[in-house]
Amino acid sequence: MSSPASPPAAPAPADLPPLDALIACPACDLLLLRAPLEEGIRQSCPRCHHLLYAPRARTVVQVIALSLTVAILMIGAVFFPFLEISAGGISHESSVFDAAMAFSDGILLPLSFAVMALIVVLPLLRVALLVYTLWPLAQGRPAWPLARRAFRLAEAVQPWSMAEIFVVGAVVALVKIAGLATVTLGPAFWAFALLVAVVTLQNNLLNDWTIWTVLDTQKKR
Ligand SMILES: [Zn+2]
Repeated sequence: MSSPASPPAAPAPADLPPLDALIACPACDLLLLRAPLEEGIRQSCPRCHHLLYAPRARTVVQVIALSLTVAILMIGAVFFPFLEISAGGISHESSVFDAAMAFSDGILLPLSFAVMALIVVLPLLRVALLVYTLWPLAQGRPAWPLARRAFRLAEAVQPWSMAEIFVVGAVVALVKIAGLATVTLGPAFWAFALLVAVVTLQNNLLNDWTIWTVLDTQKKR
């Protein structure tokens, strides 16, 4: 069924193959022939070494595992104490949920919604969509009916999930507050810090081409 793997090289304009046989490297725009999608195949851009295809089964299982990790860490990160501030004998402990809800009455209500949506809801939505897309693929079964739509939405949501940016913001704020009061970091801070690492790893492993090709191949059958 498969043709022999062609060496990745830009074809001459005279015999340009059909468009869906080509991919452009997302990092450097080099035009390449698609390698046939077979298990275990791995293709990198010869010019900039950007990973184009990752071995499929492993990628899918790893991304699902990391998605579940993100979901569990997120619950801890939101509801456990984020930090405790003490000054002059008075101390106050607060979770991210408390902090977001602090704006929940009055004119700042939209801010509460925005904080919870960008830090919690969208990252959780993204991992739920990824698990929906990839779960059947991990078991070697056909994708669920809305998988293509779910994966497209997961891609669209990615720039808006800002849990990592929140941690950077929190660290900057802590440096300022540390001069005025004693700040003790709670378990949620470390959960968020771990979350940043896990989300970064997940984004690196998640190879759009690989997933889209699997979904496209199934659609054509
Ligand atoms: Zn490249």
